Amino acid sequence: MENKAATGRYVTSQTSVWWDIDSCPVPAGYDASLVGPSIHLALEKLGYRGPITITAVGKLKRTSEDVMRAISPTGITVKYGGLGCRSTCAELFSWQLANPAPATIMFISSPSVLKSLSHRLRSVPKEYNMLLAYGSSLPEKDPKLVTCAEWLWESLLKEAMCSDGKLEAKRQILMEEKRSKSLKPFNCTLCYSAWRSVEAFTTHLQGLDHEVMIMKQLASQGQHEQGTELELGASSNGGNGGVEIETGEQKQQLD
Ligand SMILES: [Zn+2]
Repeated sequence: MENKAATGRYVTSQTSVWWDIDSCPVPAGYDASLVGPSIHLALEKLGYRGPITITAVGKLKRTSEDVMRAISPTGITVKYGGLGCRSTCAELFSWQLANPAPATIMFISSPSVLKSLSHRLRSVPKEYNMLLAYGSSLPEKDPKLVTCAEWLWESLLKEAMCSDGKLEAKRQILMEEKRSKSLKPFNCTLCYSAWRSVEAFTTHLQGLDHEVMIMKQLASQGQHEQGTELELGASSNGGNGGVEIETGEQKQQLD
């Protein structure tokens, strides 16, 4: 598809980027500190000039401390979400409820996660611009998910590398902006806590208190899914796509 330039109120309204970092990681060999600036440049190229926030969400099992240390100085918030891509989607919807349109939402994930969550993303009110970036291959197109722009994740990052010094300049600007704010960029959505340093964050993620919260979440999730199975048993059509997906993701989580 051809990416459409921002129009009207969307030019100056805010853009919130939700990055499912588990399924769509920083490509091997790519400088993680350039991810934030690359996303900013891609959005600015389409005319989005309003405030941009980027949040990376995931279980973070495959996200190294070095990657987290590299992305946070450019203003990216890192959140532990115990349900993986479903946490990313839940955080997106929480933000949307708290931030009235006009606004733009960008969702970054693998094609398979995008496919599994497209029925949820379709429920974002149409007053929000929806933008997507996904892995290195095209997902099966959901005709009901209306978007204004789409990128292949690696193409977005590579294109920014060819921007004649703009990328480095943007990195410097973002780092300067970040330094001027006293924020805690590392969050745990399970324990409702935040940290300034990646070391304190990863220590928390390996600690007993956090582990207990994970066990509680898994227990409540198991109860929820048992309830879902009962509902499915009573259903004549055997359920819908959403339920099947949730069950599949739960299996992944327990692997
Ligand atoms: Zn925690």
